[in-house]
Amino acid sequence: MPDVSPWREPVPPDGTMGEPRARGRFGEYGGRYAPESLVEACREVDEAFREAWADPGFRGALARLLAVHAGRPTPLTPARRLSEALGVQLYLKREDLTHTGSHKINNVLGQALLAIRMGRRRLIAETGAGQHGVATATAAALLGLEATVFMGERDIERQALNVFRMRMLGAEVVPVSTGSRTLKDATSEAMRHWVGATGDSHYCVGSVVGPDPYPWMVREFQRVIGDEARAQCAAELRTGVPDHVVACVGGGSNAAGTFAGFADTPARLVGVEAEGGAGAARGRLGVLHGCRSLFLQDDDGQIAQPHSIAAGLDYPGVGPEHAHLRDLGRARYVTVTDDEAVGAAVRLARTEGIVPALESAHALAWVISAAGGGDLPAGSTVLMTLSGRGDKDVSTLKELL
Ligand SMILES: *Cc1c(COP(=O)(O)O)cnc(C)c1O
Repeated sequence: MPDVSPWREPVPPDGTMGEPRARGRFGEYGGRYAPESLVEACREVDEAFREAWADPGFRGALARLLAVHAGRPTPLTPARRLSEALGVQLYLKREDLTHTGSHKINNVLGQALLAIRMGRRRLIAETGAGQHGVATATAAALLGLEATVFMGERDIERQALNVFRMRMLGAEVVPVSTGSRTLKDATSEAMRHWVGATGDSHYCVGSVVGPDPYPWMVREFQRVIGDEARAQCAAELRTGVPDHVVACVGGGSNAAGTFAGFADTPARLVGVEAEGGAGAARGRLGVLHGCRSLFLQDDDGQIAQPHSIAAGLDYPGVGPEHAHLRDLGRARYVTVTDDEAVGAAVRLARTEGIVPALESAHALAWVISAAGGGDLPAGSTVLMTLSGRGDKDVSTLKELL
């Protein structure tokens, strides 16, 4: 497995994972590259978020929603049988046990509350596999908002069940027929649609991507994963802090939320990407969807079409903060193949009784392959975020197994 970005040792002192610099900069990445009308809309979101995040009333309302509706806090589960076989101590942060089955709900509930605070009555979202669309439709139904979800025609064919779930929840699903008819095109279309609807609609971005303030705001809404895990590790691990903190990276929101809880500790942060969607490991500097970051591109600078068995990792780039953490050497980004991920999913099912999402299985595949070697010495403690449950992937797995 190619080891694509280097560590820097010792871990640098932190400033990392605080607030971005002016205009949403993480090092040379980030920013707000959007048409003028969206620059103004983003400025309003930024102002509203800063105010809300400083307001204990807003934080309390969100914490209550996360507790009574989304099932937080999620447990920290020791993977006992697998740990014994691998010779490391593996702990799983169980985002698969949240309502709707992935970490996406943490961010969506935050943005839905913010939308209401801003007087908006509708959420706009993009979705690939449909997980973010389902979470958005769920939050909208719960809080009495409308939801319009943009989805590529190819994904609509591949993810019929999630399309039905969104419609059942009362959301409008808009098919996108441009380009490759997948997530990248759905995102472009959702942004275009927002231009004409900024007065009554909030664009609920699904990962730590897009124009400022989204990469920072979405990370803050997802840091509940890392903050909970930090406290759980302090209570349950002999060492208090794990040696390694591992998460899969599509756009990078579950990883960013997890890393944020450990940024000021000596834990080594590892982001695991799909071999065919390795924005942080293999991308080049570019601008897409309002943000300067690392993207897979061809020789002409055209954005390349990513390929992964895990639809949630099928994004051609990575959020700007991950690009920055990579440059600093604070986090390291590695890649895993489709086959390794499928193998890891089966292994977790049979040793721990947990069928993980194929996205999360990428993180586990790295742990399995690295355990006992120089990257993950025997006896290490590892915290891994299990970003979602595998129900959505059973038809994919059924074809292969
Ligand atoms: C969407 C998704 C991902 C990838 O998104 P990030 O923003 O990188 O976290 C990972 N796992 C699951 C289960 C997902 O639904």
